[in-house]
Amino acid sequence: MLFTLEYAKQLDQEDILNRFREEFYIKPNSIYMDGNSLGLLSKRAERTLLESLNDWKEHGIDGWMSGNHPWFFLSEKLGEMMAPLVGGSANEVIVTGSTTVNLHQLVATFYKPEGTRTKILADELTFPSDIYALQSQLRIHGFDPDTHLIRVKSRDGRFLEEEDIIEAMTDEIALIILPTVLYRSGQILDMKRLTAEANRRGILIGFDGCHSIGAIPHSFSEWGVDFAYWCNYKHLNGGPGSVGGLYVNSKHFGTAPGLAGWFSSKKEKQFDMEHSLTPADSAGAYQIGTPHVLSLAPLLGALEIFAEAGIEKIRAKSLKINQFLMNLLEQELSDLGLKIGNPVEDVRRGGHVSLEHKEAARICKALKENGVIPDFRAPNIIRLAPVALYTSYKEVWEVVQILKKIMTDKQYEKFKNEREVVA
Ligand SMILES: *Cc1c(COP(=O)(O)O)cnc(C)c1O
Repeated sequence: MLFTLEYAKQLDQEDILNRFREEFYIKPNSIYMDGNSLGLLSKRAERTLLESLNDWKEHGIDGWMSGNHPWFFLSEKLGEMMAPLVGGSANEVIVTGSTTVNLHQLVATFYKPEGTRTKILADELTFPSDIYALQSQLRIHGFDPDTHLIRVKSRDGRFLEEEDIIEAMTDEIALIILPTVLYRSGQILDMKRLTAEANRRGILIGFDGCHSIGAIPHSFSEWGVDFAYWCNYKHLNGGPGSVGGLYVNSKHFGTAPGLAGWFSSKKEKQFDMEHSLTPADSAGAYQIGTPHVLSLAPLLGALEIFAEAGIEKIRAKSLKINQFLMNLLEQELSDLGLKIGNPVEDVRRGGHVSLEHKEAARICKALKENGVIPDFRAPNIIRLAPVALYTSYKEVWEVVQILKKIMTDKQYEKFKNEREVVA
C-alpha cells in the first residue's frame, strides 16, 4: 500500500490518544522528534510545579506537611503513581535521586562480592554514565574494572543477543546491570528471560529503564527483577533534571542502604534524630537526603496523564506510529543510503527509530534548520522518536518529506559533519 498524507490524517482522526496532544506545549512551525531525550512540558506538569511554588510562598516551612502537595511524602506519593508503569507495588518504587546516583546507590547496596563471585556483568553498548558508575564502584571495592567489569559484546554493533548474555552469567558474576531498551538501537532486551536465568544462577540482576519508562509496560515484580532505576525527563516528561526513580523488589526490603542518609529513615523515626538509622521497610530506604521538591513537582501532573491514557494504549500507539515512520522511510528513502538500525519486530523495538548514515551529524543539523528536532548519537545515528502522547501521524509524514528533500538536494553538505557540544 502507499503511505500518503491523507492516510496520515486518517490515522490522526482514529487515534484514541489524540486529545492529549493539546495538553502539551508544542512549538509552532517545529516538529519535535526528541521526546526520548527530553519530553515536552505539559500544562498539567506546569500546574503542579506552580502549585508547589505556591505552597512554599504560602506555607514556608509548613509546606513539608501541608499545602497542595506536602513535601515530606512527595517521593513516596510519586512512587505510588509510578508503580503501575514498572509493574511494581507502591512501596517498591520511590522517586529520588537521578539515574546515575540511583545506580550508585543500588550497586552500593546489592553488589556483595564473595569468594570467587566478584565480577559485575554489563554490556559494551551501555550508556557511558552507567559504565563510569560501575567502574568507580569496583574501584571502591578494591577491584580493577579492567578485569572485573565484564561487558557482553555485540555481534553487529547494534544489538545484544540474549544467548550471549546468558552465556556470560558465570559463577564469577555477582551482579548484572543491563538496559531495558538500548539507547542507540532501541532494542528491548528480553527482561523476563534474562531475569529468570539470573535468578536461577543466584545472581542479582538490575535494569536501567531510562529508555523504556513511559514508553513500554514492565512487569518487574512478576519477572522477579531485583532492582531497577531510570530517569523521568525522557518519555515521562518530568522536565530537565527531573528527579529519577528506582524500584527494589520487596524480597529485598530490609537490606540496609549502601549509601545511607536521614531520608533513608522510616518516616515516623526520621525526626527522632538518633545516630543509629532505622531504614524504611520499603524502597524508600534507598533515598539519601532531602528531596529536590521543585524537580519532583512537575511529575505529579505528568503522571496524571499516564494514568489517564494508560501505558498499554500508549505502547499500542507508539508501536503504530513508529511503524508508520519506518514504512514511510522505506517507501520514500530506501535508495538514499539511510539504514534502519532498530529491530523491526514489535516485541524487540522500543519507542524510537534509529537511522544510520555516515553523514548523520550534519543531516541532523539540516533537519534542525528545517524545523525538525531529532537527536544525534555518535558516530552515525539519527534518533527519531514519535511520541504517543503528542506526536501526530501528519507530523511523521512531514518529517519524512523534509528528510527526503535534505537527502536528494544534499542540503547537509553545507554543515560540518561534527556533533554539537550537546548532541
Ligand atoms: C539518559 C540516560 C542516563 C542519564 O543519567 P542521569 O544520571 O540522569 O544523567 C543514564 N543511562 C541511560 C541509559 C540513559 O539513557
